[in-house]
Amino acid sequence: MSSESKSVSKNFIEEILAQDEDTRRFQGRVHTRFPPEPNGYLHIGHAKSICLNFGIAARYSGGLCNLRFDDTNPTKEDVEYVDSIQEDIRWLGFDWEDRLFFASDYFEQLYDFARKLIRQGKAYVCDLTADEIREYRGTLTEPGRESPYRERSVEENLDLLDRMRAGKFPDGSKVLRAKIDMAAANVNLRDPVMYRILHAHHHRTGNAWCIYPTYDFAHGQSDSLEGITHSICTLEFEHHRPLYDWFLEELEIHHPRQIEFARLSLTHTVMSKRRLLELVRDQHVRGWDDPRMPTLAGLRRRGYTPEAIRNFCERIGISKFNAMIDMHVLENSLREHLNRVAPRVAAVLRPLRVVITNYPEGKSEFLEAVNNPEAPSAGTRQIPFSRELYIEQDDFREDPPKKFFRLAPGKEVRLRYAFFIRCEEVVKDPETGEITELRCTYDPETRGGNAPDGRKVKGTIHWVSAEHAIRAEVRLYDHLFRVPDPIDVPDGGSFLDHLNPDSLETLTDCCLEPSLASAVAGEQFQFERLGYFCVDPDSQPNAPVFNRSVTLRDTWAKVEKAQQAAGK
Ligand code: ATP
Ligand code: MG
Repeated sequence: MSSESKSVSKNFIEEILAQDEDTRRFQGRVHTRFPPEPNGYLHIGHAKSICLNFGIAARYSGGLCNLRFDDTNPTKEDVEYVDSIQEDIRWLGFDWEDRLFFASDYFEQLYDFARKLIRQGKAYVCDLTADEIREYRGTLTEPGRESPYRERSVEENLDLLDRMRAGKFPDGSKVLRAKIDMAAANVNLRDPVMYRILHAHHHRTGNAWCIYPTYDFAHGQSDSLEGITHSICTLEFEHHRPLYDWFLEELEIHHPRQIEFARLSLTHTVMSKRRLLELVRDQHVRGWDDPRMPTLAGLRRRGYTPEAIRNFCERIGISKFNAMIDMHVLENSLREHLNRVAPRVAAVLRPLRVVITNYPEGKSEFLEAVNNPEAPSAGTRQIPFSRELYIEQDDFREDPPKKFFRLAPGKEVRLRYAFFIRCEEVVKDPETGEITELRCTYDPETRGGNAPDGRKVKGTIHWVSAEHAIRAEVRLYDHLFRVPDPIDVPDGGSFLDHLNPDSLETLTDCCLEPSLASAVAGEQFQFERLGYFCVDPDSQPNAPVFNRSVTLRDTWAKVEKAQQAAGK
């Protein structure tokens, strides 16, 4: 095989890793890390990064991947996030073994690095305010101006930094800056801030520190200290790379190779933690784990499986170009997995009573139903049939359009795994005209779903025996936002203006087959003909709550749409 054809299947990151292996750049070592800031819950975008970093480590012999919290911003961080992040990564199926680290563990070392740079004349304490620093920085077209504090002596800088650490100065009164080049074309190199004063309690170091390193100063050095070989990050850090290189070179410490890739964006949702926090805090959703959220906790509650998410990340691949992925790609990954593993059951979401007038009162019998046609080993179960049943309101039309093969007056239909029934009479509420009941007859000869005389019916519908049914609440979800990209909309305004007011519909009177009595939170099912559903943790004994994870493809809606379009 030529090297060219071998490389076709590789993404560009794997190409780089293969090169580094060939040149022994890191003595053949591969060591990655996933570095979240504990300032929110993980979302599906993070899953892409987790699958990438842990996946690479798993593919190389001796490969390792660390989990490191980049916890340099105490005012936005919380142990709740530290805990949830670990839970979510484990749930996704990855293991950092004994390599759990925190940037805050390196605060003392980072402080020493800062002092080293001061001694080398490469860092200084600056008294400009935040606004002044911004103003002095210049723009993309104009160079910056040098701070009047730039030429402080090494001794003065060392002394000031020590007093900053000792709490002698108020928040915002001084910063430590790298002394690089105020005329650099790359704005990140115009004397960036390394330390700021922040008299704030840190969730791990308590009140030990009142100065905190910036992300830009902490991140690269933390990677270096951990011996990371490949620091994989998203594209927006490309312009920070020269700064990270500068720090590592001036400090003369291990130099990881930074590789940038395109972050994941999905339609009909938002992915920035700031916006997700706003949704939670202002109660547009019920919490970080609301099933409409793109967080891993939300997706899990919605019924997503780790397999579906990992397959999705594999499918979308890795690239250098930011693009938006359609939510349907994610949903399809879930359908594919649940189609293989979820047992089929009968559930009626909007019940319509059916009385089988020629079936004896008080009698019931059991019929055999297949648990999963995709997995014969899943076997069969017995479902009860009796004189009174429920069917979906949608499965009956008093005045059926063409090609409506479900139940209608005088028409015959197959009840799945049971009998043919014919609709003889429609009973309505005399006041409202609403259909309250159908009176039907069944053909006992069609037990199991076939007529011995060879007569055919076109439609098969699902049903539940009324006296055996379990009552349940079912929550139907739709996109959280009405538009594909709620951030970038021409009319401006807030992303909140584009929330979908119908993203949650709660049905409280659903009827499930009795086998679901023992279902526990998190369990997944296919409700035949309706979609995939899972048990919500809000469930109580005898009061189950189900979430719709994803619909099946709705063929009737398509037929009807096509008919409307054709004017039929
Ligand atoms: P946000 O901007 O949404 O707050 P972040 O990038 O600040 O997210 P971090 O906690 O820093 O969040 O992210 C940890 C890791 O996950 C980083 O390496 C980051 O590059 C990666 N990551 C974050 N969002 C995405 C995304 N949408 N797609 C791919 N990787 C992502
Ligand atoms: Mg970040």
